[in-house]
Amino acid sequence: MRISDPRIVVKLAEIHVDLQHGATLAGLTSLGIGGTTDLLRIKKHESLPDLLNLLDANHVPHKFLGGGSNLLVGDGELPWVIMQLVRPEPDVVLDGNFAHIDAAADLGRMITFCAKNDLGGMEGLIGVPGTVGGALRMNAGAYGMQIGNYVREVKLYRAASRKIEILRGHQISFEYRHTSFAPDDMMLSVILELPSKPFKEILQGIRICNEKRRSSQPLGQKSAGCIFKNPPGASAGRMIDELGLKGLSVGDARVSDRHANFFVNAGHASAKDMLALIADVRERVQKSYGVSLENEVVVWSA
Ligand SMILES: Cc1cc2nc3c(=O)[nH]c(=O)nc-3n(C[C@H](O)[C@H](O)[C@H](O)COP(=O)(O)OP(=O)(O)OC[C@H]3O[C@@H](n4cnc5c(N)ncnc54)[C@H](O)[C@@H]3O)c2cc1C
Repeated sequence: MRISDPRIVVKLAEIHVDLQHGATLAGLTSLGIGGTTDLLRIKKHESLPDLLNLLDANHVPHKFLGGGSNLLVGDGELPWVIMQLVRPEPDVVLDGNFAHIDAAADLGRMITFCAKNDLGGMEGLIGVPGTVGGALRMNAGAYGMQIGNYVREVKLYRAASRKIEILRGHQISFEYRHTSFAPDDMMLSVILELPSKPFKEILQGIRICNEKRRSSQPLGQKSAGCIFKNPPGASAGRMIDELGLKGLSVGDARVSDRHANFFVNAGHASAKDMLALIADVRERVQKSYGVSLENEVVVWSA
C-alpha cells in the first residue's frame, strides 16, 4: 500500500514520522519472506495518538513491526502499511534493580547490558532475536523462564482509549506466548525488575543457553523460531519429528533437519510455500495425534 496523498505526507513530517516508500518485508523479517509496502518510522512515542488518528481518518490499514523475528508476511504488494519505532539512544537506563527499556531496544543487547551491570534473570532469552516490544507482546520465553515474570510497568498506546497509558505488572496477564494486551495495543517502553547476580554467574548461564540453542536449532538459516506452540503437556517438535517430517518441503520452505518445529526458508521461499507447508504438517499431526497445532508464528496475510 502506498501513501501518496500530499496532505498525509506533510502531516506525517509534522508529527515526526519518517515515511519510507516501498519497504520490502523480506528484508525486515528473519524468515526473509514478505512483499512490499510503505514503512512509517516513529521517532517520538508521543506521536502515536496523532499518527493513528491520521491513518484511521484516511482509511489506511496498518500493522506494527518489531524486529520481524516471529512473522510470516504475505507476498506481493501488501494491503497495509507498517509502523516501527525508531530506537532511541540510550535505550536502556538502569536504576538499582529496575531497568527502564525502550520497546525498540534489541532484546539480546539489553540482556547483555544488564548482565554487565550485575542484573540477571533473563539468561534464557539470550539468542532470541527481535526487540523488547516484540518479546513483551509474545511473552517470549525459553528454558523455563519468560519475560513477563520481570515486568513491573509497561507504557503503551492503548487502542481502546486511543491514548498513551501506563499499566502495572499485576494488571497484565502473561501466559505461554500470549498476553492480555489488546491486538492493537502498542508497547512503547517497559520497566523490568531484575535480580542482582554477579556478572560471572550470569555469563555462565548465558553460555549454557547459547550452547543448548547451537546444538538444537538451525541458527544459520532463515527462520521465525518455532512455527507452532506446544500443546499442553506435549511437544510440537517431537510429534513432527516422530512422523518423520524433518526435511519435508514445499518449494524452498522446509521443515528443518535440526529442529522439527523450525521451518526454514532454504532459498527463495514464498509465503504461499510456507503456508502450504504449515497446513500440510498441521493436517498430518491432526490425523496421527488428534491434536490441532496452533501457530506461534504471527501470520500477516497479503
Ligand atoms: C532463531 C530464532 C529463535 C527463537 N527463539 C525463541 C524462543 O526461544 N522463545 C521465544 O519466545 N521466541 C523465540 N523466537 C521468536 C521471536 O524471536 C520472538 O517471538 C520475539 O520476541 C519477537 O520479537 P520481534 O520484535 O521480532 O517481534 P515481531 O516479529 O516484529 O512481531 C511479532 C508480533 O509482535 C507484535 N509487536 C512487535 N513489537 C511490538 C510492540 N512494540 N508493541 C506491540 N506489538 C508488537 C507484532 O505486531 C507482531 O504481532 C525465535 C525466533 C528465531 C528466528
